[in-house]
Amino acid sequence: MKITDVRAYVVEPFTWEWAGITRPLRWMFLRIDTDEGITGWGEGSSFPHHGSEMVGLGALAAKELLIGQDPTNIEVLWQKMFRRHTSVGARGITSAVVSAVDIALWDITGKAAGKPVYELLGGKMRDDVDMYANGWFDNCVTPEQYADAARNVVLPAGHTALKFDPFPEHEDGFLSGGLTEEGTEKASDIVKAVREVVGRNHEILIDAHGRFNVPTAVRLGNRLFDESNIGWFEEPVPAESNAALELVRPQLRAPISVGERLFTRFDFVEIFEKRLTDYVMPDICLAGGISEMRKIANMAEAYHLPFSPHNAQGTLQIVSGAQLCMTLPNFYRLEHAMTHISGYNRFLTEPLNFHDGKLTLSDKPGLGVEMDVEEIERSSIEIEWPENLN
Ligand SMILES: [Mg+2]
Repeated sequence: MKITDVRAYVVEPFTWEWAGITRPLRWMFLRIDTDEGITGWGEGSSFPHHGSEMVGLGALAAKELLIGQDPTNIEVLWQKMFRRHTSVGARGITSAVVSAVDIALWDITGKAAGKPVYELLGGKMRDDVDMYANGWFDNCVTPEQYADAARNVVLPAGHTALKFDPFPEHEDGFLSGGLTEEGTEKASDIVKAVREVVGRNHEILIDAHGRFNVPTAVRLGNRLFDESNIGWFEEPVPAESNAALELVRPQLRAPISVGERLFTRFDFVEIFEKRLTDYVMPDICLAGGISEMRKIANMAEAYHLPFSPHNAQGTLQIVSGAQLCMTLPNFYRLEHAMTHISGYNRFLTEPLNFHDGKLTLSDKPGLGVEMDVEEIERSSIEIEWPENLN
């Protein structure tokens, strides 16, 4: 079997509103065709600010390497794609491109073998995949609104773990690294209100989105842990600085989760060696696809660290992540945004099977889903490589 074509589509499933700002959300689906009529699909989405378009263009730049290759030679193609761009930094855009291609190659390989990807990865360790809920608090501002959303959206879906960012005033990202007294009190009140609704047996995971400086991260994380027993404090400091994380670590009582902005197993070496985290949460569309996520999960397993993929993008991110999570002994939970469910399903011929806070995969070959090609082609922008660069 040989690869005959690589195409990239950018879709906009919906616009997303949070903290009073409306932003377009875009996903990049990658399609790889073969001479045996098998088509594989991958995803390389990166939100926001045209990240998906950048990855789509990068994937088309890899086309000349992929055409004519056997798509079931996943590891050698991974290594070739990754190594050819180390001069510009193979972690980042390159790693995202490799991720999208890798997911599509696993889809093809599974379809060719007539088996779901989880069987090719060693078989099932569980029948379905535990999820945690994000994206359930859109437009919430007050503690009462967060509490109502937890009660009316999260609990009826059967979730026993939920995540949110209670620091919306800091939406502009890392500027000062601090948080006002008013913002601190508000975050404290929001988390307490949610804890009161969900009770003691639910996990409350707090996302700091890498915005805070060291003393602020320590102050906030400890306060929320002491008051509301949060399950983890995610990305307490900017992802660029393991040195900052090293300063935070011994001062913070809350467990830490990091990884959504780390790329490939190489970025995780220092995290593991310096014992900088309690949970490992790489992103399958950025960290290197199914192949690389499995390696990072295996490294985490050697440290007895739970593996809990970041999952804030589209249809094939959640499906490929779930395929992998079916097979891992150290799996904790897979993230998903509840507001994305209609978007996931929009590009599939059959909806995903969410129930009781879990996702159950089909036993169909490959990723186990059929893309709605008509809907993708109708509603997407197909990214094209400039002809004069061929
Ligand atoms: Mg996060």
